[in-house]
Amino acid sequence: MSYISTRGQAPALAFDDVLLAGLARDGGLYVPAAWPKLTPDDLRRFRGLSYAELAVEVMLPFLGGTIDRADFTKLVNAAYGTFQHKAVVPLTQIDSNAWMMELFHGPTLAFKDVALQLLGQLFDHLLAKKDSRVTIVGATSGDTGSAAIEACRDRERVDIVILHPHNRTSEVQRRQMTTVLSSNVHNVALEGTFDDCQDAVKAMFNDQPFRDALNLSAVNSINWARIMAQIVYYVAAAVAMGAPDREVAFAVPTGNFGNVYAAYAARQMGVPVAKLIVGTNENDILARFFASGEMKADGVVPTLSPSMDIQVSSNFERLLFDLMDRDGAAVAQCMAGFRETGRFEVSQGQLARVRELFAGYRCDTEQTLDVMRDAYAGSGYLVDPHSAVGVAAARHAGLDRSIPVIVMGTAHPAKFPDAVEKATGVRPPLPRHLADLYERPERLDILPNDIQILKDYVRARARVAKQQA
Ligand SMILES: *Cc1c(COP(=O)(O)O)cnc(C)c1O
Repeated sequence: MSYISTRGQAPALAFDDVLLAGLARDGGLYVPAAWPKLTPDDLRRFRGLSYAELAVEVMLPFLGGTIDRADFTKLVNAAYGTFQHKAVVPLTQIDSNAWMMELFHGPTLAFKDVALQLLGQLFDHLLAKKDSRVTIVGATSGDTGSAAIEACRDRERVDIVILHPHNRTSEVQRRQMTTVLSSNVHNVALEGTFDDCQDAVKAMFNDQPFRDALNLSAVNSINWARIMAQIVYYVAAAVAMGAPDREVAFAVPTGNFGNVYAAYAARQMGVPVAKLIVGTNENDILARFFASGEMKADGVVPTLSPSMDIQVSSNFERLLFDLMDRDGAAVAQCMAGFRETGRFEVSQGQLARVRELFAGYRCDTEQTLDVMRDAYAGSGYLVDPHSAVGVAAARHAGLDRSIPVIVMGTAHPAKFPDAVEKATGVRPPLPRHLADLYERPERLDILPNDIQILKDYVRARARVAKQQA
């Protein structure tokens, strides 16, 4: 199993190097050179497996022998042992033909834990084999930082520095990061905005000697291993609904297109998927694309579902690569045009092809609140504002009623208590493992927006620098 770049100019890599590289050297994203196949017999054989057992079966072909089955089983068990539900990602029926797959029972209450918990394990394992270390640096407006910190805490081979804008995240979000007191975790509250945090991280990655000296790495959503881990729950949902003998549809609240791209990957592997319904909030670049074939960036407006307040969906490039028949030069040209003009367009033929599988739906704030209110009134079920966008998208898809629709529940309602309370009058309590979050001690460093000070700070905490010195 080798991986190729969507822009066709970077060398093909094996799984371990793809994990550590993140972005390809030509600016593209790595994808498997060919999709491993799941036959109808494979899918029948999966019935009754635990989530961790299924995860090993689905992901092993993607590793291409870089990790053996016994070691990988241990990593998977460790990753999913951190979840607060025995089923890891339980399915809850929410309507006569609709289910919610609850992906939010991990340590930080959002679906990103499913992939990142495994990523932390993979980093440690592969770096130990290479006797190497990495320094992970990232910027967060609040949501992804905590999932990355939980994934990397106490990892022997990883140091992590996360920058957040000082006094500009919610208290829950800040505490989910700053109450992790592990010695390899470093929280920087930057005196500036989220954009300042992102610019500082970019500046570190663009300083080649600094980047090389500290083995800088990222765990953002373009990392192939995150997609790989997400494929598993689509297979699990389809098998639970009767695959290979019954088709399913998925409704996915979407930002960077990583989650729904994993659903597409599952279909390429042989899972019978009738439709993929992409739900967006008012930041609707994707819904507009699936309607018109034109991808056109617009300003970002803040909504009730902040993790989907995204202007450009970076993982879309992976789908584009297939849509352009895996012509890396064509993708590179398209993305260069997009960077320059903020828009590109696919042909009517390509649009027709993509619409055979995908549909887009835009759900505004009022509708999001309506969905949350309805769900609570109808069955006492609390839905977070991101998952609510998925529910709205599923309702408006107009599918044949014999096809079960599975909505991806991407966040626990307690992660967004203000929105839930606004819609339902109920303030969802934090689950048991986080109940004392407000009493836990915090550790963070408040630093000025000064790139030299920030670099010195990271260098002083990166164990890889000490190893080389
Ligand atoms: C990250 C996130 C999303 C968007 O997922 P993508 O893979 O970026 O499409 C949706 N909901 C929640 C709660 C998230 O944290």
